[in-house]
Amino acid sequence: MNWNDVIRYARHGSPEPPRRVEKTEAEWREQLTPEQFRITRTKGTEAPGSGAYCESHARGRYACICCGTELFDSSLKYDSRSGWPSFTEPVQDNVIKYERDTSHGMIRIEVMCSVCDGHLGHVFPDGPEPTGLRFCINSASIQLLEAEQVGE
Ligand code: FE
Repeated sequence: MNWNDVIRYARHGSPEPPRRVEKTEAEWREQLTPEQFRITRTKGTEAPGSGAYCESHARGRYACICCGTELFDSSLKYDSRSGWPSFTEPVQDNVIKYERDTSHGMIRIEVMCSVCDGHLGHVFPDGPEPTGLRFCINSASIQLLEAEQVGE
């Protein structure tokens, strides 16, 4: 995928998600830490450089902290020096939902988990090859499943 795909998804709708998980605000609050809730359910952002996975090189899959859907693979993680974990591509197109975000005086593309609508971060067109994309993701929105657990 590339930036044209991202723009198309944000304009005309993202791919059909593999499944759906829907919970009430109270249920999310009970399941998540206050920081995870703030970021994933109220579109918050963690302070740059503060997240657990900024500099992680461990191998495995990163899953949504809310619903467990596998979103990113460590092999597509790179050091963007932005202060947030960054990936060039999701594990599958349809696990990510893309929406235009005009908050804070900027025009950006927000990325969410397509299964539970949990806020992950934003995607920018300044990443490395092969996609040229930078999925800039809050550590609090994801959880690393180490390689053994995903059978690699
Ligand atoms: Fe999710």
